[in-house]
Amino acid sequence: MATPATQAKQRTPETAPCDYDVIVIGAGVSGIYQIKRLVDLGVRATVLDANQDLGGTWYNNRYPGARFDSESYTYGYSFSSELLNEWHWTERFSPQPETLRYLNFVVDKLKLREHMQFGCRVEAMRFNEPTDTWQLSLNDGRALSARVVIAGMGPLSTPTLPKFAGMADFKGISFHTANWPHAPLDLTGKRVAIIGTGATAIQIIPVIAQQAGQLTVFQRRANWAAPLNNGPISAPEMAAIRARYDDIFAACARSPAAFEHIPDSRRFYDVPPAERRAFWDRLYAEPGFGIWLANFAEIFLDEHANAEMSAYIADRIRQRVKDPALAELLIPKDHGFGIQRLPLETNYFETYNRDNVELVNSKATPIERITATGLRTSERDFEFDVIVYATGFDAFTGAYDRVDIRGLGGQSLRDKWAEGPVTYLGMLVSGFPNMVMLGGPQTAAANFPRGSEIAVDWIMPLLQHMQAQGHTRFDAQAGAEQAWFDAVKLSYQGLLMSKAQSWITGYNSNLDGHEYGHTRYNIFATGGVQYARHLKAAADGGYAGIAFA
Ligand code: NAP
Repeated sequence: MATPATQAKQRTPETAPCDYDVIVIGAGVSGIYQIKRLVDLGVRATVLDANQDLGGTWYNNRYPGARFDSESYTYGYSFSSELLNEWHWTERFSPQPETLRYLNFVVDKLKLREHMQFGCRVEAMRFNEPTDTWQLSLNDGRALSARVVIAGMGPLSTPTLPKFAGMADFKGISFHTANWPHAPLDLTGKRVAIIGTGATAIQIIPVIAQQAGQLTVFQRRANWAAPLNNGPISAPEMAAIRARYDDIFAACARSPAAFEHIPDSRRFYDVPPAERRAFWDRLYAEPGFGIWLANFAEIFLDEHANAEMSAYIADRIRQRVKDPALAELLIPKDHGFGIQRLPLETNYFETYNRDNVELVNSKATPIERITATGLRTSERDFEFDVIVYATGFDAFTGAYDRVDIRGLGGQSLRDKWAEGPVTYLGMLVSGFPNMVMLGGPQTAAANFPRGSEIAVDWIMPLLQHMQAQGHTRFDAQAGAEQAWFDAVKLSYQGLLMSKAQSWITGYNSNLDGHEYGHTRYNIFATGGVQYARHLKAAADGGYAGIAFA
């Protein structure tokens, strides 16, 4: 390892040749905007993606029913009026095929495809201290170097499978939802199992129940969910949306989660109970996240207010599920409404009224093993043709943990984050110079493209500043990183969701070190507005907290 003195002598950064000025990892929503800005800047840049084509999440998650819960017109890129004027979203909440088409439209329109390389997974990255460059090793055997690496690898891009005995023995078809087969899969008449009842399963279940001969859902913990209330967007409606795009994006910038839904400003206790219920009736019937994000702030802070809200939603579930015992099984008893990321649904609860759908309480009767023909619980054997693992992701840090990333002195990022992520502003990691994260841990978990644009718009002037000053290295200062970690930790304080058994706190029952109670501070929970202020303050302060060399 080089000492600072020998390093100073050995550093030949400006003359050291490297393949690219910037390598972007990931051709998803953030990587696409990032490469657009880099191409405009005229630097030598490329995007590497392990998939065979662009789209990231929208390339991978092809399961029936996949769509986002963001209003489509808040999900598109805001930076180009040409794109905004040309694209017509056909549904209020766009389904996966349309979103993937949209991303392809953007890339083709902006001629970005020539800057993308597919089918290449970055397996290792090592920072070369004498030259201030990153050396990347790819699964196709290539080694590439770049001054700067920008990782847009996705916060929920690393699927996690359960560790059941016998998984390899199953003779039917089985896969994680993020690896749903690309070829059409005809489930007509098939016996299908779904393991998990997170946001993904809640989208799939109503769709495949209509196709499958028999659908069996294995639910360990029930999940709160509320109606999506999706619908088509007609040509006149789209024209009206286009006319107010400026207002739409301005509203997103004012809202903590970057949606048009703004928290209700009234105090929960100032509104009489009957009026509260009438308000919730309205929100329940409206499209999108209003029931979650336009609700009273106390729902997320105050046990009593949350309990009242939970009771309201529980009643709604009872109204929708015919069998009262089944309804009770579908009502979460271990956490309150909205404490975990709220899944939005279309006919989810009604699906359990169908004769071909069975709900198994896999907390009471756990899955013991997968067998050649199905699975065995503590109670009985089941036979299946298809097993779908809707078991979630190694959130936020998973994609980074799977690349052997070595910073100054050979330090491993995986080791640094063993107890949970530590970052500066969710963008940089001290000791890992010239590495930037988009949508990484400890950013505000918001409507994703809105957060991506904010992040890219922040990093571009930093790169230009670096170029203008002739610097070859930037690195977050350890003190600034600690201060951001403290701010992130503080942002969880007082929130009921700080006890959530979800990716918010790093819980994942299929990963060691992610047990419930071992909190990983994955997001800046104060929200997007404050987060954007922190970024701006750092930039306005001449990139406070960042050392350039
Ligand atoms: P998830 O919310 O983590 O849910 C995973 C489910 O699998 C849980 O019900 C979990 O049960 C269950 N599970 C995991 N391991 C299990 C095991 N070994 N045995 C039995 N059950 C097991 O994952 P997800 O549904 O894929 O959603 C993840 C996130 O992706 C969402 O929160 C959301 O942010 C995003 N997403 C967004 C959309 C959208 O935009 N509409 C759609 C899908 C996903 P326990 O709770 O008991 O662990």
